[in-house]
Amino acid sequence: MNMSFNLNALLRDNIRKLVPYSSARDEFKGEASVWLDANENPFGSPLPHDYNRYPDPLQHQLKHKLSKIKGVPAEHMFLGNGSDEAIDLLYRAFCTPQVDNVILVPPTYGMYEVSANINDIAVRKVNLTNDYQLNLDGIAEAIDQHTKLLFICSPNNPTGNSINAQDIETILVNFNGIVVIDEAYINYSKQKSFTQALAEFPNLVILQTLSKAWGLAALRLGLAFASKEIIEVFNKIKPPYNINQATQDLVLEALDGVDIINEWIKATVAEREVLVSKLATLAQVEHITPSDANFVLVKLSEPRALYAYLVEQGIIVRDRSKVTLCEGCLRITVGTKPENERLLEAIQTFY
Ligand code: PMP
Repeated sequence: MNMSFNLNALLRDNIRKLVPYSSARDEFKGEASVWLDANENPFGSPLPHDYNRYPDPLQHQLKHKLSKIKGVPAEHMFLGNGSDEAIDLLYRAFCTPQVDNVILVPPTYGMYEVSANINDIAVRKVNLTNDYQLNLDGIAEAIDQHTKLLFICSPNNPTGNSINAQDIETILVNFNGIVVIDEAYINYSKQKSFTQALAEFPNLVILQTLSKAWGLAALRLGLAFASKEIIEVFNKIKPPYNINQATQDLVLEALDGVDIINEWIKATVAEREVLVSKLATLAQVEHITPSDANFVLVKLSEPRALYAYLVEQGIIVRDRSKVTLCEGCLRITVGTKPENERLLEAIQTFY
């Protein structure tokens, strides 16, 4: 339990005082059959759906279904236009430009820094250790009274490993700002989600996404789980109709596909292990970081030349060879069996 966390004190002044935009549909709560409040086209849309009407701003139906799947009550859930929207809203809610700062633990997901830069928030970097775990002493030293957010990605992108849960708890207990745990790749991991710890930590925000295991990257749906009070802040500052109707409809339908998603997760994890064991037999592969995600970080000789060769072969991986602590590494997403075999053949041909 974190005893000294004070959400109200943490908020930006303007956000604390903000009177949120109130849409026509927010103000009216009853039943009606004639809707002349929102300047919509009354005739319909050119599509066989009621897309002429604005969507539910709080996505009640979708949250209800997601809450059963995730085991988190709907009041503890925010939905964003990808988790990237939730990252941006966290900066806007808590960080005053040119005053506050955020702690990032590189190598990690790039949007935390991009979003900080867009919002003019100072970034304090405390590198992960050589085995890609948190440097707790370094983090403690970097925190000051203007540190509002700390992002931890677990399993981490681009390294693929999970971050030690005990270390994350240490930060949750001792840091009086918001600890964001990005669980974009949690479905592929042996570690359990932090969702069951929400009641214990008022300063915890968990990010998840339907863009990875759920196979819905194009629909843009990210989730944030947090205390009711933090969710209220998100709802106060989000664009009113941030999740469009087509996404709400299609995701509702997709959520019935939990069985196939679980099969694909198992297949991906099995393929990951095959890919790792085959890569490990190559003399030019110097290191493979044990992965809890659907990608592997591989250190090998001549990474940039190999990357260019793979591009020529029509195979695109991610070159991370210039990233601090990832020197010499490519990040490779686990594909289907035939895709992974094509990749391995191309690597062998290159060497
Ligand atoms: N978090 C991490 C760690 C990611 O790797 C990504 C996507 N690459 C995201 C968040 C963004 O997810 P979304 O598609 O929901 O914006």
